[in-house]
Amino acid sequence: MYLKSLHIQGFKTFEQSTTLELAYPVVAIVGPNGSGKSNLVDALRWTLCEQNLRTLRARSMLDLIFSGSATRHPVGYAESEVVFNNEDNVFRTGTDTVSVARRIFRSKESDFLIDGHDVQFRDVEEMLSSTGLGFRHYPFIGQGEMNRIFTMKPEERKALFEEVAGISEY
Ligand code: ATP
Ligand code: MG
Repeated sequence: MYLKSLHIQGFKTFEQSTTLELAYPVVAIVGPNGSGKSNLVDALRWTLCEQNLRTLRARSMLDLIFSGSATRHPVGYAESEVVFNNEDNVFRTGTDTVSVARRIFRSKESDFLIDGHDVQFRDVEEMLSSTGLGFRHYPFIGQGEMNRIFTMKPEERKALFEEVAGISEY
């Protein structure tokens, strides 16, 4: 399973509709400080059910919506869609791709979609947890977070390895 594309609009820095085609196996994104590189990771995490505001580097979920700039008006909603290549059928849907999308409006109303169909938060969570993406500790290692792994207490590091190995539940 790997990421195929990320589409965002109105999310943090990305006021305009922006699609990144993520070529297998390695993608590097370069840009000056503050250009939105980490915001792309925030979009990925948010789409894949992250609810922790600190992890999303926001004070409120509304901070995820483009808040305007010197030359552009704020927008009314943010959306982000992650498309997975599912040729190895990790999601057990039998389809070549699986898409997960999330939207939030200024009213705080929020939508989840799987392959374009309206679903509930827990439907996405359930689907992700069957693939290992439901765990939030290791699929995303953010800026400055390597250090956290090196400085973990032995029990914490043990828990991380158990999670990676898929044996936590035992
Ligand atoms: P660095 O190289 O320093 O890590 P980066 O490319 O990772 O930088 P980000 O942290 O992704 O940069 O982007 C930070 C910028 O995103 C801030 O300067 C801020 O202006 C902008 N930003 C964050 N949230 C919003 C929002 N809701 N609306 C508009 N801009 C936003
Ligand atoms: Mg950054």
